[in-house]
Amino acid sequence: MKLYEFQGKEIFKKYGIPVQSGFLIHKNDEVKNLIPPLVLKSQVLVGGRGKAGGIKIWEGNTDVSQIINELFSLKIKGEKVRSILALEKVDILREIYLSITFNKGKSTPVLIVGTSGGMDIEESIRLNKEKIHFVEIDPFLGILEYQIRFVAKKLNIDNYLEFKNIIRTVYKIFKEYDATLVEINPLAITPHGLVAIDSKINLDDQASFRHQVLFQKLEEEKKLIKDKEDSNTSELTDDTITFVPLSGNIGVISDGAGTGLFTLDLINEYGGKVANFCEMGGITNSEVMLKSLKMVASDQSVKSILVVLIGGFNRMDDMAEGIVKFKKELNKNIPIFIRMCGTKEESGKELMKKANIPVYDSLNVAVEKAVKKAMEN
Ligand code: GDP
Ligand code: MN
Repeated sequence: MKLYEFQGKEIFKKYGIPVQSGFLIHKNDEVKNLIPPLVLKSQVLVGGRGKAGGIKIWEGNTDVSQIINELFSLKIKGEKVRSILALEKVDILREIYLSITFNKGKSTPVLIVGTSGGMDIEESIRLNKEKIHFVEIDPFLGILEYQIRFVAKKLNIDNYLEFKNIIRTVYKIFKEYDATLVEINPLAITPHGLVAIDSKINLDDQASFRHQVLFQKLEEEKKLIKDKEDSNTSELTDDTITFVPLSGNIGVISDGAGTGLFTLDLINEYGGKVANFCEMGGITNSEVMLKSLKMVASDQSVKSILVVLIGGFNRMDDMAEGIVKFKKELNKNIPIFIRMCGTKEESGKELMKKANIPVYDSLNVAVEKAVKKAMEN
């Protein structure tokens, strides 16, 4: 799960990483008695807000409500702005980049620092590889003093203790929240010390059972933001789902791009035509399954839906739960054909049978049936 900046900063604050003080503004909120200078930051989950005009500084010499209205009318990379974080502006001497994420090749944490953080980090790395440093973390040892000294030197840090504290805290958050990413970009050097100007935290959905209260709270906050809008289409967007509209009459959902692609080939071989293709983005859950089905079914030309699942990390009982929910909630008469195997396959199939949804062991058979049904309807 991706956290909004304000949610990440709440965690930072709780753990003692310095952040600016501020508050959240919702659409149609009455804003009075604001004291400049303020930074007004649109809260969206996509990156590159600054470049897209989603961050405005109010120095006090213009009408602040106009700036706020302007931000609320923005759509950043397709995402509507539904709330704004207002923060006291700080003076920045230098911006650095700091994050901890997983080195996917080794499945171990890695600390990444950049000597010039901020909005142009990608461009600046491309131009100068010297500006970025990677430090592998041994999960059994944690981050070691010499590693912190190494990066502090590279970054020309004056106040070593303050910096060390932040690194150790970021790693603590990374571990305790089961995060896949904790990023501060920029971490600003200000006349009054280091300040986390931005926050980006991604949590591992597979570990949500260990943080049930937190996940519930975060979901509720997200809903609160979304409820402010007429959310017909917005609830169908998800940053992990890839949706490809095509021109046939079979809807296809898979839990991996490769599985999806060879299924498309197979449909073609059986003489079928694909209406749209939805790839759930690797590791997924029942909610994403439900969303994907809604997305696929919202296309009027879809006459049958084929769901192809190979459970590795994904649990088939989870997937089945999403499918059953779809059947119950939408009550549409589009026939669904499932091929599922792997983790928790038995309980998944059991749920499918109870809901009267055909499930097949053979991909060929499932494809054949889905193609045939689409041709009939
Ligand atoms: P992003 O574009 O989504 O990454 O948004 P950030 O929160 O990282 O802000 C983008 C840029 O705006 C930062 O790199 C800063 O240069 C600038 N900025 C944001 N907040 C402040 C602030 O309080 N003071 C100053 N001087 N600049 C800020
Ligand atoms: Mn940023």
